[in-house]
Amino acid sequence: EAAPAATTAATATHCPYCALQCGMLLRPTPDGTAVTVEERADFPVNRGALCGKGRTAPAVLSSRVRLTEPLVRTHAGRLVPATWEEALDAVAAGLARTARAHGRDAVGVFGGGGLTNEKAYALGKFARVALRTSQIDYNGRFCMSSAAAAHQRAFGLDRGLPFPLEDVPRTGCLILVGSNLAETMPPALRHLTELKANGGTLIVVDPRRTRTAEQADLHLAPRPGTDLALALGLLHLVVAEGRTDEEFIAARTTGWEQARAAAMAHWPELVERITGVPVPRLREAVGMFCDAPSAMVLTARGPEQQSKGTDTVGAWINLCLATGRAGRPLSGYGCLTGQGNGQGGREHGQKADQLPGYRRLTDPAARAHVAGVWGVDPETLPGPGRSAYELLDALGTDVRALLLMGSNPVVSAPRAAHVEERVRALDFLAVADVVLSETAALADVVLPVTQWAEETGTTTSLEGRVLLRRRALTPPSGVRSDLEVLHGLAARLGVEKGFPTDPEEVFEELRRASAGGPADYSGISYARVEAEQGVFWPCPEGSPGEPRLFLDRFATDDGRARFAPVSHREAAETPDADYPLLLTTGRVVAQYQSGAQTRRVPELNAAAPGPFVELHPRLAARLGVDDGTPLAVTSRRGRAVAPARVTDTIRADTVFMPFHWPGEGRANSLTNPALDPVSRMPEFKVCAVRVEPA
Ligand code: SF4
Repeated sequence: EAAPAATTAATATHCPYCALQCGMLLRPTPDGTAVTVEERADFPVNRGALCGKGRTAPAVLSSRVRLTEPLVRTHAGRLVPATWEEALDAVAAGLARTARAHGRDAVGVFGGGGLTNEKAYALGKFARVALRTSQIDYNGRFCMSSAAAAHQRAFGLDRGLPFPLEDVPRTGCLILVGSNLAETMPPALRHLTELKANGGTLIVVDPRRTRTAEQADLHLAPRPGTDLALALGLLHLVVAEGRTDEEFIAARTTGWEQARAAAMAHWPELVERITGVPVPRLREAVGMFCDAPSAMVLTARGPEQQSKGTDTVGAWINLCLATGRAGRPLSGYGCLTGQGNGQGGREHGQKADQLPGYRRLTDPAARAHVAGVWGVDPETLPGPGRSAYELLDALGTDVRALLLMGSNPVVSAPRAAHVEERVRALDFLAVADVVLSETAALADVVLPVTQWAEETGTTTSLEGRVLLRRRALTPPSGVRSDLEVLHGLAARLGVEKGFPTDPEEVFEELRRASAGGPADYSGISYARVEAEQGVFWPCPEGSPGEPRLFLDRFATDDGRARFAPVSHREAAETPDADYPLLLTTGRVVAQYQSGAQTRRVPELNAAAPGPFVELHPRLAARLGVDDGTPLAVTSRRGRAVAPARVTDTIRADTVFMPFHWPGEGRANSLTNPALDPVSRMPEFKVCAVRVEPA
């Protein structure tokens, strides 16, 4: 990319972190070596508001610990500086050697939901064309895959929010399930404040009385892992109280009878026993939801990161469908995607089972179309590979070399100690990252890459709005973009063409590859995105883009939404004599995901310096511990140690840990990799543990 002209003019762009993709301005410092963040009030999603992560994001650009030269591991086991030629030669040789010795599928690729659309697209193409391996997946599998699967099953299309965020404050009742917006996306909190100011009601479902739950008119605190039963109980009451919308059900849905029968088997007293939510509270929630002129359900990781995540989301969708709260203005079901490009990251081909345009890899027509754009024989395209956890679990055995971009699974994957062991067992590991993350520290080759403000590219926010991040700063001379890395590796693997380094050129190809697919970007251009503050997909050539989906018909073959006949089942692990408590995990406002970037920002680190174990005063008294007492939390997979934080905002049968830190406080040492059979989502949100003073 050409260097930006020397100027003090600010560049309009978006935050590098979460899926809200807040708009911001980056203004170069007078010497042009850094940027400062300024408010960008014209972007409608955040209207200038930013959380601490967004405000401090430039700190990582100039951090002393960012990588500025490639590193290669010596025979003595040390990572030492190398030239880019040496590093890329070593990566290409490591990947090619493994493919020759063990077959193409012995080479894996692991991507990330923070990669731009262009990078996600190029990475998927690199795996399938340059490496010809089926073994590619990404950390977004851990993020929202069960909501995506439930969306597909019910509506025939997965766009996280089928309506813009600006609709949320105007709905009559919002049920927020397992989302702590106040910590994960603080600027979005104003939508809840405005909703209440407009006379709407807010119901929050969370085992913890979070800062978000504090805002609610009604807080339901189910036992972790029982959100499915809770939704079934509400639907039971909707039917029993005659609050279904029979006209809508008849005209716009299929499968109601089976879903109804399943719900009727979950009578309120049974649901109270399963979830711990009293029947009067269930009735209150049904009253609020059904009395409102319009209503929405939004889910996040709480109900989604479960071994029954797809069915759990399906149960909440059933509630919307039975009450006619979908495919109508100011009503519907949506998923609050987490990672910066969590939506776009799942649309362009870095997922094990998908091709660009959100096409299925097993669909012959999709294979032919994408192969045509790529100029390859469809027969040469590999089939679907393993899902993220299964891929990580196969490292060192079936998968012997790995190229990893934009992810830090040694901290963020479930059963992380085991994953770390598998990463260490690899014959060859190459990691492209901006800092020496815990996973990069294990690599044979580390490739230092450009950061968000140093490169141009698109992301797709949680609304399905395609946005442009503009390069605002010249990167340090020792780093290259991920696109340059893939270009250099493909050439060394004998694929000279097809991996351009100019992001807009990649986007132009992505447009053609997506044309006609569910996530059709063919009518979107950089110029349009800039001029229109983003463009919503689907957007075929000539289309204005679609902020609101499903108002006339759903995206299924017959245009009708499909009920899911789902029933309650327990979490993969429930408490017993050895592990008598439940663990649930989540985030804190000052850290982001595995913390690879935010832990390196002094201001954020000061605000949230380390992990903790949240527990109820009754449990603390039983254990004889106080605030600050070091606690050992043990599950069947491992042990983590962190200080106690005693609070009555959590259920007495549950402890909570944030998951941003490595080392002895690594929460994911404990979490359960039991997978949802549909989406292959691991059960991060509930497992059985024992807690004792360390
Ligand atoms: Fe960035 Fe998300 Fe914070 Fe907005 S809410 S500033 S997108 S981290």
